[in-house]
Formats: sequence, structure tokens, C-alpha cells
Amino acid sequence: MAYDVLIVGAGYAGAVAARRLAEDGGKRVLVLERRPHVGGNAYDCPDAAGILIHQYGPHIFHTNDRRVFDYLSRFTQWRRYQHRVIANLPRDNPEAVPAGKKTGGRFFFPVPFNLDSLKNAFGPEEGERLGQKLLNAYPAQSQVTILELRQNSDPEIAAIADYVYEHVFVHYTMKQWGQTPEEIDPSTTARVPVRLSRDDRYFQDAYQGMPLHGYTPMFETMLDHPGITVETGVDALSRLELADGAIKLDGQVFAGPVIYTGQTDELFGFQFGPLPYRTLDFAYDTLKQDCFQTHGTVNYTVDGDFTRITEFKHLTGQEKPGVTTIMREYSKAYTGAEGEIPYYAIINPANNALYAKYKAQADQYPNLRLLGRLAEYKYYNMDAIAARALALSDELL
Ligand code: FAD
Ligand code: UDP
Repeated sequence: MAYDVLIVGAGYAGAVAARRLAEDGGKRVLVLERRPHVGGNAYDCPDAAGILIHQYGPHIFHTNDRRVFDYLSRFTQWRRYQHRVIANLPRDNPEAVPAGKKTGGRFFFPVPFNLDSLKNAFGPEEGERLGQKLLNAYPAQSQVTILELRQNSDPEIAAIADYVYEHVFVHYTMKQWGQTPEEIDPSTTARVPVRLSRDDRYFQDAYQGMPLHGYTPMFETMLDHPGITVETGVDALSRLELADGAIKLDGQVFAGPVIYTGQTDELFGFQFGPLPYRTLDFAYDTLKQDCFQTHGTVNYTVDGDFTRITEFKHLTGQEKPGVTTIMREYSKAYTGAEGEIPYYAIINPANNALYAKYKAQADQYPNLRLLGRLAEYKYYNMDAIAARALALSDELL
């Protein structure tokens, strides 16, 4: 069968583009996916205990983009869900209190750190006073990034900044990136600002929720179109050849658009060296109890060797008495070893320059389009990728 468009990868990038091109452009689209399933990193499935889990990390949908929300809403209904996260940390600052003086115990506050977190940390009265001070210092803002807050020269605000840096950011960021907040791209910590309000939601977007029956059924519905053929368990690189500006599929020149959503360094045989990534190990535990923690995700911002624990029932709303599944996330450098998945691009000038070399190679192929978190080597949320897939499809139509 002849195809008009070839898409590598059936995650958000590939699936949204496939549907739009097939449905609105009448294109015959072939989607090749290496994994045995569609959905990319948003894939979910029941575990052995029947709990709906996210196999590649907790995914919560949120967007301000009406077009993206409306588009996806054609393939799923939504469960109304607003993600809330708390920090779980030792009452004693492990670095400031000598071992013999530790009182023990743990405490909690909302993340992003907000005016209520201040009260949890400094007590109700002092927290209230410091909150007023912050509001006066940033009268026109609803939030401030930790790096911005650390620039403030007022001694009391500097003390708040130090507190938040120490209790929310520095240890968590070291665990997640192996680097300090100053060393990583500032846009990364800016994702989790200090809130100058009592809003304790993790995201403030206009549209938030979880696909009512899970992400995988949403993807299956999206890809279920007569113009779309999906082959799973197929490594596209074993069927593609790139040479002299032409792309061959199964030995034949493929002249139509090729939308590639995998790793760009891999596409070009790592010829300039591998692009650096962070990967994650997920440790699942199924427990014989109704519920493990109060929130969907609890961040271990100071101690522990994992970053966070997610309890899926909070996210999905699944009702299943007597059993629950939780997952801890352990971050480490990606080495490219068998089975490792490159989850997070490490954005910095050197890595961007390396990516630019691969991009220049890709630009030698006029019908090749790089799309998605891997292919573009960016830290994009699901909605941003869906928006980019729609925009690319608009252009191709
Ligand atoms: P992917 O989902 O990675 O899909 C790419 C697909 O291409 C994969 O299925 C891969 O197998 C396939 N592929 C690659 N190479 C080949 C090949 N050679 N042949 C065939 N197939 C190939 N975003 C949010 O909005 N909210 C969240 O809460 C959220 N949580 C996250 C948590 C974690 C731990 C991580 C890592 C990411 C999270 N994200 C979240 C981001 C979200 O996962 C991405 O935005 C989204 O999955 C990107 O879609 P994509 O299609 O670009 O990439
Ligand atoms: N972060 C932190 N402490 C937290 C939450 C986040 O230091 O409790 C920092 C950390 O550097 C993290 C970044 O903010 O990588 C972005 O956090 P987000 O929750 O958006 O990460 P993701 O869900 O994408 O892994």
C-alpha cells in the first residue's frame, strides 16, 4: 500500500499529526512505533493488581490552549482533576542541626511554595507577616521564580528565599539533575514558582484533567481512522535509510513528509556524539490499603534518594478498596544502555549547540520534519507537543 505521510513514533506528536493529516487532509498515513503500544510516554495500563498506572511517569494534563483541549476532547471525556502536591521533609534541616540535637519528625507544606507554605514553615503569625512583606515587594505579580527571589536584597526577603531554596529547590534539583538550580536552565525551576497567593494547585491552567478512561484509550481512538495504519513493535530505523538528501523506506524513496518524533542523534547514528539526557527508574509498590498518601504526588524535597512518590488512584479517581499502587522516581544520567529511556533533555548552551549540528543534518532532507520532545530536544509538556503537531499539520495541509 502506498502512503502519503510517514510518521515515526505514536506519542502525542505522532498521533495528533497522524489524525489531523488523515482526517482533514485525506492523507494515507503510516505510523511506525518501536514500543508494543501507542501513547508514547503518556501510555497507561492496569498493573497486576488492576490499578491504572502510568508506565513512564505520572502524567497530568493541563493547558491554556483552547484548540488543543478541544482537539483532544474529541477522543476522550475528562475527569475533572486539579493536581496538588505537598513537600514532605524532615523537621530538622539535616545540614544545620547536629545529629545529637535532632528532634526527629517530618512536616509538610504545599508546593509550589505559597503564602500558606510560609505559615507552615514560620508559624501562623510570622508567616502572615512575611507573606504581607512578599506581597508588598511584588505588588504586580502573582508569582516569582526562586532565582528572581534570591536576587532580592531586603534581608527578610533574602531569608525567605534562602529558606525556600534550601527546603524546596536545591536538594530536589540535585536529585533530579545532578546539578544545582543555578547550573540548570532557569526555565526549569521557573516551572515551579513561589506563589504570591494561597492557590495550592500545581498548575493554574484553564483546562486541567485526566482522560476519563486513561490516556491509552484516548490515543487508540485518535489513531482509529481509515487513513491511518499503525505498526507497533517496529523500529523505524531498521526500515529507513537517509542518504544524499533522500529518505528511503524499505529500500524505496519516500517522497512525502516524514515526521520523525524519536531522538535526532540516534537518527544520524550519533555521529557528533550522543545528546545528554536524564533518565528515571520507577519503583512501584502495590499496598494492601485503601490509600497511602493525602495527595496525588508528594515531593521529598530535602532527603531520600528519590524525588517524589505518586499514588495513581488520586490522579485517576479509580475506586478499588483495599489496594493501591504508588511509584517512586529515581533520576540518573542516561547512558544509552539497553532498556534505558531518555526522559529529559538537559538544556544548556553546549547541548543546544550539539543539537544544532544534528538539526543542520536534518535540514539536508527537505521532506524530514522533526517534531516532539525528543526530536526537538526540548522540555515540552503534552499540550505544547499537541499544539506543535497541529501547527505542523496545518503547514503540511
Ligand atoms: P514521546 O511520548 O516520547 O513519543 C515518542 C515515541 O516515538 C515513543 O513512543 C517512542 O517509542 C517512539 N520512537 C522513538 N524512536 C523510534 C523509532 N526509531 N522507531 C519507532 N518509534 C520510535 N507533560 C505534561 O503535560 N504533564 C505531565 O504531568 C507530564 N509528566 C511527565 C512526567 C515524566 C516523568 C516525563 C518524562 C514527562 C512528562 N510530561 C508531562 C511530558 C510528556 O511526557 C511529553 O510532553 C510527551 O510525552 C511528548 O510526546 P512526544 O510524542 O514528543 O514524545
Ligand atoms: N523542583 C524542585 N522542587 C520541587 C519541585 C520542582 O526543586 O519540589 C524543580 C526541579 O529542578 C524540577 C523543576 O523544578 O526538575 C521542574 O519541576 P516539575 O515538577 O515541573 O518537573 P517534572 O514534573 O517535569 O519532572
